[in-house]
Amino acid sequence: MKIIDSHIHFSNSEHFVNAAKNSEHIVTLEHLEMIFQQSNIVLGIGMGVDGKDPADGISKPLTLGKEGLPPFLVQCLGIDTAAIRKETLNDTLDAFERMLNEKTTVGIKVYAGYQHFYVNDEIYHPFYEMAEAHDVPVVIHTGDTANSKALLKYAHPLTVDEVAVNFPRVRFVMAHYGNPWIADATEVARKNENVYVDLSGLAEGIFNVNWFMQHYEDYVNHMKMWMTYLGNYEKFIYGSDWPLVSMKAYISLIWRIIPVEYHELVFWKNAELVFSRIKEVLPKE
Ligand SMILES: [Zn+2]
Repeated sequence: MKIIDSHIHFSNSEHFVNAAKNSEHIVTLEHLEMIFQQSNIVLGIGMGVDGKDPADGISKPLTLGKEGLPPFLVQCLGIDTAAIRKETLNDTLDAFERMLNEKTTVGIKVYAGYQHFYVNDEIYHPFYEMAEAHDVPVVIHTGDTANSKALLKYAHPLTVDEVAVNFPRVRFVMAHYGNPWIADATEVARKNENVYVDLSGLAEGIFNVNWFMQHYEDYVNHMKMWMTYLGNYEKFIYGSDWPLVSMKAYISLIWRIIPVEYHELVFWKNAELVFSRIKEVLPKE
């Protein structure tokens, strides 16, 4: 089956290069293309992280740090709240506007938790308005964070409820299923028509899938229970969080968690609907 990976990172920053080593990956386009081919991944949606500390002090969209992207990669523009200044906000918004006009831009990314603002804070509102105008979704980091400077209260999935109500015409994707607040994330996605869940980042490094299913049996069952409770597999989108995890192992894990009759939705169709722009870049058959 063809797969869309809706959540990867491509960055040569220390964090990702080191994390890649733990999952026997290398952050190069050649390697990424090879592992995409091995698993029949047709397209990866990269969450932009590069471009912090801009030389001119003006907050720019965080990107995959590449001038042009290969045909198997598109990106969501990250918001760098730390560099946003009132005086230069218009320059920032112009830079987003320019990149949103490129067909390789398919969404906007909010690093909630890493950035100390609630997702419904006014600082984000102009970006949500832009997402609405360009018909691209907003991916929000939810749940556990990779460093202890982040603040979990901003990354709690329940905070997405308010922004989803405030911007009913924007599609929001809660990354990582809000893990470990899976019950809360389930309710937010169940209640709000415009909220979806990506299944990336629920495991990391290299692991044996049989071992994982046994060792974390209760955790996996807990997740399956809430998925069944939500009762709508159109809400779940496959993503890996590569290079933080072995691509093959992660696909097999999610493959086993999702009932087989919903594989096509989760591994392909839902991404196509939520990230509607990718239709323009997906290879025609
Ligand atoms: Zn990520």
